[in-house]
Amino acid sequence: MHQHTMAQLAQGLRDRAFSSVELTRHYLERIERLDPAYNSYITVTAERALAQAAKADERLANGNAPILCGIPIAHKDIFCTLGVRTSCASKMLDNFIAPYNATIVSNYEAAGAVMLGKTNMDEFAMGSSNETSFYGPVKNPWNTGCVPGGSSGGSAASVAAHLAPGATASDTGGSIRQPAALCGLTGLKPTYGRVSRWGMIAFASSLDQAGTLTRTAEDAALMLNTMASFDPKDSTCVDHPVEDYTAQLDQPLSGLRIGIPKEYFGDGLNADTAKRVQDAINVYASLGATLHDISLPHTHLAVPAYYVIAPAECSANLSRFDGVRYGHRCENPKDLNDLYERSRSEGFGEEVKRRILVGAYALSAGYYDAYYNKAQQVRRLIKQDFVDAFENVDVILGPTSPSPAFAFGSKTQDPVAMYLEDIYTIATNLAGLPGLSIPCGLVDSKPVGLQLIGNYFAEGKLLNVAHQFQQATDFHEQCAPGIE
Ligand code: GLN
Repeated sequence: MHQHTMAQLAQGLRDRAFSSVELTRHYLERIERLDPAYNSYITVTAERALAQAAKADERLANGNAPILCGIPIAHKDIFCTLGVRTSCASKMLDNFIAPYNATIVSNYEAAGAVMLGKTNMDEFAMGSSNETSFYGPVKNPWNTGCVPGGSSGGSAASVAAHLAPGATASDTGGSIRQPAALCGLTGLKPTYGRVSRWGMIAFASSLDQAGTLTRTAEDAALMLNTMASFDPKDSTCVDHPVEDYTAQLDQPLSGLRIGIPKEYFGDGLNADTAKRVQDAINVYASLGATLHDISLPHTHLAVPAYYVIAPAECSANLSRFDGVRYGHRCENPKDLNDLYERSRSEGFGEEVKRRILVGAYALSAGYYDAYYNKAQQVRRLIKQDFVDAFENVDVILGPTSPSPAFAFGSKTQDPVAMYLEDIYTIATNLAGLPGLSIPCGLVDSKPVGLQLIGNYFAEGKLLNVAHQFQQATDFHEQCAPGIE
């Protein structure tokens, strides 16, 4: 059963080939047996999953059940889940039982999807390798000596190791697309505001967006159909009609205008990764798309602008973790200052502290104009690059990440090297655009990703462009070695 995509599982449930309870048991058994090698889950919610599966079977028996009814999924541990620990992979929230469901969790529950558990991640979603988790690193199923990418590395590894057919994730600067690339998956970050952020623990509120990790674009469309909604509880959620994201999947690509930005093929790109991306571009040409050289001239400013804006927002968002209202509290505080200082020193890991310090500095009086305001101006220019490009092309295509999965420890001593992992993904977040990564081949027996960037709310088009590639190629069907 675990070889099937979500679309195939939905068919299997309707054909009575298996029940949701059988399917859920099967996944729970695999997680118990195989996950110790990957560490992709922080919490497994077996009892809750089986109860949800039994309910789903009743709905399926009654007919007219939603398409994901009875299908198991995993949620990144950044999404609040009622009555279940929601840790954000931090010691700070190790004891936090969420008192409500995130809107997207409720949306999946209402559709009858079954929650298997909560997946591992970089602490507070800060990282590109899943090495900053309080619960230990996640291993890449393709090569357990290598990172799965981050911050949604647990969601990616769980899907790549067939320990969940699909998972939710979040992307502030690349955290869905980069792990998708490194684990050979399809990762979708929707337009900012397409999916509710309510109940998703905030890292950088103007950049964070929830999305999906799946094996295929078709599954991503099914997940987005369920996940996307207008939510008045999130003031940045856009009241834009939710389409049926499967509707355009089969459209032919003849006449599609693909933009190839020259800035995405510069010095930092691994030569073999560039070749795989070029081969993918040739596939698109053979499918009838036309290729256009374009320029996104402010690309080189994306990482520096992001590393002012994201830490600034994180320093504000994480001020709520003070040892009083939520989470970890130090033992025997002497006074209030001691309580704050020790609770925060003990509760946060090194990378989180680094971001809070950078952010507080950038926002401080006297530096605000030089750093934060300047970064916001740069952000505007980056957005304008895309607006101009989309005058002439329908999608933009390039690599997702500069190279395949790297070894544990190889970038931990050099934060800037780690930050450059997201050099091709971050601009999309700064502009608020949707982005998608699909597998396009192997380098050194490890997957690499092709990134597709679409115009605002063009998720349907992006999924169509990805699906057509997956109809013409079989990279998305390749499994990590030893995963049957
Ligand atoms: N790697 C980037 C960071 O550490 C992006 C993280 C994310 O998208 N959540 O900030």
